[in-house]
Amino acid sequence: MAHNTVFILIDGLRPDAIAQTNCPNLRGLIARSAYTLCARSVMPSITLPCHMSIFHSVPPERHGIVSNTWVPMARPLPGLIEVAAVHGIRCAHFYNWEPLRNLNTPETLWMSFFNDTSKLIDGDAITVEVAAAMIPRLQPQFSFVYLGTVDTMGHVFGWMNDGYFKQIERVDIELGKLLAALPANTNIVLQSDHGGHDRTHGTDMPEDMLIPWMASGPGIKAGMIQSAVSLLDTTPTLARLLGCKPHPQWEGRVVEEIFA
Ligand SMILES: [Zn+2]
Repeated sequence: MAHNTVFILIDGLRPDAIAQTNCPNLRGLIARSAYTLCARSVMPSITLPCHMSIFHSVPPERHGIVSNTWVPMARPLPGLIEVAAVHGIRCAHFYNWEPLRNLNTPETLWMSFFNDTSKLIDGDAITVEVAAAMIPRLQPQFSFVYLGTVDTMGHVFGWMNDGYFKQIERVDIELGKLLAALPANTNIVLQSDHGGHDRTHGTDMPEDMLIPWMASGPGIKAGMIQSAVSLLDTTPTLARLLGCKPHPQWEGRVVEEIFA
């Protein structure tokens, strides 16, 4: 039987920031996970193109969303949520940046919670509060929890500056609350969408392109992942955790080596 799966995304989290901040919950999760600190984003390394690529397992040149302004896909393909819906899997989204409403087509989500708080310093707390209350209570088989404030503070203070590190520490406290609320057998996948440098991102520099990626759960063995991981691999791997076959048009792969 597939266990419930929670996919957590911390926007703009650079992998090399983790060692420089006091983030015990994130570090604890890494210790329990199959993980890599050098997974790769896609170009342009900005939030909406990255998320469309994560959820549809194709690069921006294929889905056609190349800025943070959503447009319909030129050649639409089913993403994770469409495939899950076909299998009758209950999917829930919890997020605080409005353009992410378009990650799935209508009538495929089972529940969603949006609050426009990604620009606020404590803006991830409400998202986590709702997710931590609703996931154990309503038992969606798949939940996406998007936390947008680390990216915001990267733009405000600059990546790898004190205000950015402090925000990672704030979000780590929220992450701890979320993880504590989830049943022990929950599959957890956590990653960021892109990094950042100075007060921006979007280039193919390693500072923008490298992201942390980790997965933990009953059938996943902890340890550093040796193979190259792309954010295109997230949806095929999540589909596997949900017991669904990857869609033939998806270009990423299941990260097979994480499975025990
Ligand atoms: Zn950003």
